[in-house]
Amino acid sequence: MTTPSVTRYLSAGGARVYRLPLHVFPWMIGYAYLVVDGAYCALIDVGSGRGTSDADLDAGLASVRDDWGEPVEWSHLSRIVVSHGHIDHYGGLGHVRRRTAAPVAIHVLDRSIIAAYDERHALSVRTMRDYLRFAGVAPAQRVHLEQFHGGGRAGYPSVAPERILHDGERLDDRFQVIHTPGHCAGHVCLLLDDLLLTADQILPTTAMFLAPEHLAPSSGLMHYLASLERLRRVTGVTMALGGHDDPMPDLGSAIDDMERDQRRRLERVRHACAVPRTIAEITEAVHPRIRDFNLLLGLQKIGAYVEYLDTRGELRITNADQLYDDPDAPPRYMLG
Ligand SMILES: [Zn+2]
Ligand SMILES: [Zn+2]
Repeated sequence: MTTPSVTRYLSAGGARVYRLPLHVFPWMIGYAYLVVDGAYCALIDVGSGRGTSDADLDAGLASVRDDWGEPVEWSHLSRIVVSHGHIDHYGGLGHVRRRTAAPVAIHVLDRSIIAAYDERHALSVRTMRDYLRFAGVAPAQRVHLEQFHGGGRAGYPSVAPERILHDGERLDDRFQVIHTPGHCAGHVCLLLDDLLLTADQILPTTAMFLAPEHLAPSSGLMHYLASLERLRRVTGVTMALGGHDDPMPDLGSAIDDMERDQRRRLERVRHACAVPRTIAEITEAVHPRIRDFNLLLGLQKIGAYVEYLDTRGELRITNADQLYDDPDAPPRYMLG
């Protein structure tokens, strides 16, 4: 995988924003952003902490010079922001915390994910186990898929954030915090003058992850689409910079593309619900070739679409009697 170079952007107010490429997973590039404005220096997202991600972050930081031409060092940082509680954005916090005491900020809904990693991971393993049964995944397959879930027990250190973010507030008198739940409950976009840091809200080429609210409250498609609409109302943006993929000079058309893609995927789920099916069967019908980790992701994403259609009254349950009688029976959904 070729590594993009560090790229610099200038906000209308004169802040410099450096996009630092990180190999967050062997198959995926992610971006952290370093914002330098006079003596102020903020790091937005910290990579996965896996593979070369930490070393990539070190190298990216070392390549940036401050206003006086000196290399930016960890001790110069005045702020860390985690855009949302996904491992490719917060997994490097342990590495970062060993190098800087800069206060960490995260939205209130994702606070526990980084502050209490072990207990949240234990809970998510349990919730996922229940969900796979609900989705109609066969028992042997459930055990197989569970191994791909999360970062593993004691996989990451817990980091207590010093600053809890809420929608609409200004952070450090620079960033406007825009809460954009859906992809993740506590996902935020940050507006810095005319630059919008969109993290994983708008991903033109990377398949965007969604989970149903059944697994995580404030996630799911309904929240996600509402968040897209929120961003549509943000004016004066000349460049949107994401956590993956290329910069987006035209925010409006990038939002249109994301919404169109979600509607198209939703239509495929509707089509698969022409006959009664469990979430696992719908996933198999829509994505017949995915396995292992990708299947685990697919089951969650298809679950999010099914939940959206069901919540809006487009689906009915065809095996209500069975649900009463058999606690392990998964619901079967059908259009109608
Ligand atoms: Zn994410
Ligand atoms: Zn991401």
